[in-house]
Amino acid sequence: MTGAVEQVTTQLFIGGKWRDAEGGKTLTVDNPASGKALATVADASPADGVAALAAAAAAQADWARTPPRDRGEILRSAFELITQRADHFAELMTLEMGKPLAESKGEVTYGAEFFRWFSEEAVRISGRWSTAPNGVTRLVTMKAPVGPTLMITPWNFPLAMGTRKIGPAIAAGCTMVVKPAAETPLTMLALAQLLEEVGLPAGVLNVVTTSDSGGVMEPLIRDPRTRKLTFTGSTAVGRKLVEQSADQLLRLSMELGGNAPFIVFQDADVDAAVDGAMLAKMRNIGEACTAANRFLVHVDVAQEFGDKLAQRMGAMVVGNGLDDGVTVGPLINAKAVDKVAALVRDAAERGSKVVCGGEPGDGEGFFYPPTVLTGVPADADLVREEIFGPVAAIQTFTDEQDAIDRANSTEYGLASYFYTRDLSRTIRVSEGLEYGMVGVNQGIISNPAAPFGGVKASGYGREGGFEGIEEYLETKYVGLAL
Ligand code: NAP
Repeated sequence: MTGAVEQVTTQLFIGGKWRDAEGGKTLTVDNPASGKALATVADASPADGVAALAAAAAAQADWARTPPRDRGEILRSAFELITQRADHFAELMTLEMGKPLAESKGEVTYGAEFFRWFSEEAVRISGRWSTAPNGVTRLVTMKAPVGPTLMITPWNFPLAMGTRKIGPAIAAGCTMVVKPAAETPLTMLALAQLLEEVGLPAGVLNVVTTSDSGGVMEPLIRDPRTRKLTFTGSTAVGRKLVEQSADQLLRLSMELGGNAPFIVFQDADVDAAVDGAMLAKMRNIGEACTAANRFLVHVDVAQEFGDKLAQRMGAMVVGNGLDDGVTVGPLINAKAVDKVAALVRDAAERGSKVVCGGEPGDGEGFFYPPTVLTGVPADADLVREEIFGPVAAIQTFTDEQDAIDRANSTEYGLASYFYTRDLSRTIRVSEGLEYGMVGVNQGIISNPAAPFGGVKASGYGREGGFEGIEEYLETKYVGLAL
């Protein structure tokens, strides 16, 4: 155990109290850099989950009446305290998730910013007044919090995937039950401690950690006290949760998987494209829903782009994310390494050239080296599936419309990227890409002030931006006769 872990309360947080799971059950959290146990945390039962929802439901009415300024101030104080404790949060994330410390610090900045952004939005919730077309009635709209919300978050961004749901919910006046991924519960527990410290009233935020996500969450999704479910994770689990929520017609936000194209046109600044590719591919060890999954490069610049990318990726330092100089941490678990290895094997067997990397590490921990593949055929599995690892798969094209069509030929539609110096092309391609987000001449697209989200099998709903708070608000219309 290290200091960062010892400071975390590892119980359930329900109704403002920290308590053990029913029967004192615990689950073990591993460090992916060593494969060894890092901590144990409470392992909630379905009854614990129901207790958390009961606490959220009991707190809802008072919380909805709490002045927006007060709700905003809590978020603002939390933003400041997270920033003060950046080193603590960063170390926790590196320990439980694996990313290099510098990247964890980047996530602290990014994650905290959702609290600052929504602290400012809390006091801007408003409706409108208008005259009906017949001139006789007046139309008034007002906003109300949706109500108790279930939040399910993934392991890849343990802080930010939480704050971008919790921030707008607090700002809007919703109470919540948060269930972080079993691989990375420590960051969320530390965040709950911090929110308690800055004065979030009891019951507004409840956190359940469990090894039985399905068993604990399904009864809550079907419970009439729940009004909304917000989920970030895989499309397969998202589909299941949408089905479970159908009976109650819950409000839903679904932030699901991606298969991002990264297109480099012949008029691109190739060096800038390589810089962008390093971010779009290697941020978070490639374990990001926004990660570039398919590089589509014009034949005229393909050799130069591939050589430069392989040179940069091959020079990265793989190791424990806490060690100085390490730029690539471990993947989350052994299953993730096996999946990435199988995808690379399949692509190689179908004729791709492995330019660098390509073999998993054989020591302790779950390491896979940065890998560049060229000449990847369209039928390789990794062209269809999310790689979720440090593997860049390069294909070539000659025609702009063909590049757009190939970029769109996936069930997913989350992030996309392209590089060009031609303004008309910028507009044509931006309009042609069937994605929720398009990065032009930039390899990173996430921004708390922008609406993050996807189309097609990448889900629906937006997090961040002005849109983010709307997901937690209902619109009520009042008709006034004169
Ligand atoms: P996952 O397996 O779908 O898990 C996500 C969350 O759902 C975890 O908390 C998990 O808990 C929980 N879960 C799993 N099965 C469940 C069930 N039957 N009922 C209720 N909850 C359940 O995804 P992941 O592997 O953690 O995360 C990677 C995926 O997330 C990728 O597909 C990635 O693209 C996507 N992602 C999307 C976004 C976005 O904004 N669009 C952002 C980040 C990640 P346990 O793991 O503890 O069971």
